[in-house]
Amino acid sequence: MGGLGAIGNFREESGMSKDARNNELDRSLAVQAQIDRLVALLSQERYGEGGPPRNTTFAEIERYGHQTGQQVARALDAYLTAQHAARFQGEEPCPECGEECRLKESPHELPLQTLDGAVRLHEPTCNCPTCRRDFFPGEGPAGN
Ligand SMILES: [Zn+2]
Repeated sequence: MGGLGAIGNFREESGMSKDARNNELDRSLAVQAQIDRLVALLSQERYGEGGPPRNTTFAEIERYGHQTGQQVARALDAYLTAQHAARFQGEEPCPECGEECRLKESPHELPLQTLDGAVRLHEPTCNCPTCRRDFFPGEGPAGN
């Protein structure tokens, strides 16, 4: 087990990752079951019922897993920031003058380059009529 022995009968390809530090999160059984289902779906979408053909390299599989992980990460980023933004409603104090200011109807669109690629976030935005400026209430997820 371990090292290159773990890739068994996969064709070797240079550039294959040798660095795999796991950063496991504890998951509930329900979430783990959904992850397992998603993994099976993703495998079927990419390779069909029978799975990867014999000449598939481990690097190809790893690449697909990595790209898919980044796609899931971006979706989670967008989902969580939208939920976070929904916590800001009504009025928020201006960081300059402290006046309670109304949130704008439409949030600020923020294209963000994350560790996992580009994500388009929507930040709640207030306008202070006294200071004539917009501000982002609270400690925004993008560090504003
Ligand atoms: Zn102000």
